[in-house]
Amino acid sequence: MLLTGALLSALAEPLYLVRIPREDAAQLALLQRLQVAVVQELETCFIARADREDIRVLRKTGVPFAVLDSDAAGKDYFLVPASAGPRLTWLRTRGRLISVESGTLLCWTKGENLSAAIPPGVSRKPLPFASVLAGIKAVSPLRLPPGYRTAGDQLIQFIVSQVSEVNLRSLVTDLELFKTRYASTPECAAAGDFIFYYFEALGLNTSFDPFTFDTSLSSRNIIAEKRGGTDPGEILIICAHYDSTSGSPLTLAPGADDNGSGTAAVMEAARILLPHSFDFTVRFIAFSAEEWGLYGSRHYATQARSRGERIIGVINLDMIAYADQVPEDLDVIVNPYSEWLAERVRLSAEAYTGLPVREIVNASFVYSDHASFWETGYPALLGIEDEPLQNPYYHQTTDTVETLNFDFFSDSTKTALSTLTELAQPVRPGYPRTPAGLEAEALTYISLFNSLTDVHLSWAAVPGASGYNVYRSITPHLDYARINASGVLTTSFVDRLLGSDLPYYYYVVTAVGRDGLESNFSREAEVAPPAALAPGTKIRFYFPLLNRRSAR
Ligand SMILES: [Zn+2]
Repeated sequence: MLLTGALLSALAEPLYLVRIPREDAAQLALLQRLQVAVVQELETCFIARADREDIRVLRKTGVPFAVLDSDAAGKDYFLVPASAGPRLTWLRTRGRLISVESGTLLCWTKGENLSAAIPPGVSRKPLPFASVLAGIKAVSPLRLPPGYRTAGDQLIQFIVSQVSEVNLRSLVTDLELFKTRYASTPECAAAGDFIFYYFEALGLNTSFDPFTFDTSLSSRNIIAEKRGGTDPGEILIICAHYDSTSGSPLTLAPGADDNGSGTAAVMEAARILLPHSFDFTVRFIAFSAEEWGLYGSRHYATQARSRGERIIGVINLDMIAYADQVPEDLDVIVNPYSEWLAERVRLSAEAYTGLPVREIVNASFVYSDHASFWETGYPALLGIEDEPLQNPYYHQTTDTVETLNFDFFSDSTKTALSTLTELAQPVRPGYPRTPAGLEAEALTYISLFNSLTDVHLSWAAVPGASGYNVYRSITPHLDYARINASGVLTTSFVDRLLGSDLPYYYYVVTAVGRDGLESNFSREAEVAPPAALAPGTKIRFYFPLLNRRSAR
């Protein structure tokens, strides 16, 4: 039987786009339990795609929401910054442009190509079709002791000193010579080849990661990998988009600051780290089609998540070479879950470069590739010269190498490189090897009166080690305190914790050599509090109750 379009849509289940004002962690847990298809986390609200049953459940459970669009099936939606509003008047007549929170607009069309409806050069972030709820985590703000610092390290100081202004200038100039790197053009593909051969010539394991976008277009990310020696499954990423745009993107989009600068920093980082060995794997990635809507990074991050990859953190550099004032600072934008990563940048800058770092925690700043990692649940930051942007050549045909400040550019590159190097952990000759494969398993015993959690840690033996130290923190990747009273002589340790109101705990171990030298930290093991047990975990009332949980 043939059905007309109108009849089909009358029969199809209606789909709504809804806005849910954000409340607390309990609300997030409820949305996760109800399996609401949240497709965007913002600072003050969630945006979800909901069918009739979802609407019924939201009403029944008292979750407040407002319907933004009642015809959301298969429809594209883009978020754009409120500052772009005046350039989108076209959408006010042939689509919709509405404010979802202060600073953030949501737009869609009535059946026309939305991507084509938004002028090139307007930042945009498409809403995904699948739920991103699994990647959204409630965390409390960092609490570091006042005056907390990290000690500088000579090897890292040496690595950072290798950043060459001459190289950065020549790489940006080379990228500019392609005239345009707008993702749909052959020139962009040629720039991709150039980046691929650069990484390959260094001897890195390099690959193209092709993807399609805007229904019929295609482009490629370039991925180069330096494999870690201790725990290669632990991955650090430094990345930048290499595509560009302007008012006439098909012919001229030099994109020196946006984002020849970030791309050159990633390429220079690869050259400098090449001769060194690291505990963890480092990936150098140049993403494409960022300017069209973060398509390359979304493709990559989604694949990484479905492969179950363990990405410790992502350093995304986008516009790091224009200074509207001297001295310029580096703005580092993170969501709450990635706050520790911004803190690590600030501490590295303090120890190695002296560049002032401004930390901004803002889940609504989604206009670069870090947002693709946020929505797949990986910690990620955006390093950018200014938020809001001050570069007058931004997305213009005048964004050229002459407008860049190379003092600031090399400082921002050094800062990103120092953070990356510290997180990947260089292997130091003469020091004990880093213990591999740290695992943590927690056993919680609950009685009517109290609760006891035993965290069982175990790791691989390090040849020649005379003992091990165990460290614990309540902040990921920061502020570890040693918890063993005397040297641990075996490759396991039990940490006994009392109380039912425990926070998340983070553990690392080190190996100590016969000469007293201590290794790098192992990979980090996370232990969730009893309150964060998976929904559906059965608790029975007998004594003592044994509840088995594990991490890593
Ligand atoms: Zn950019």
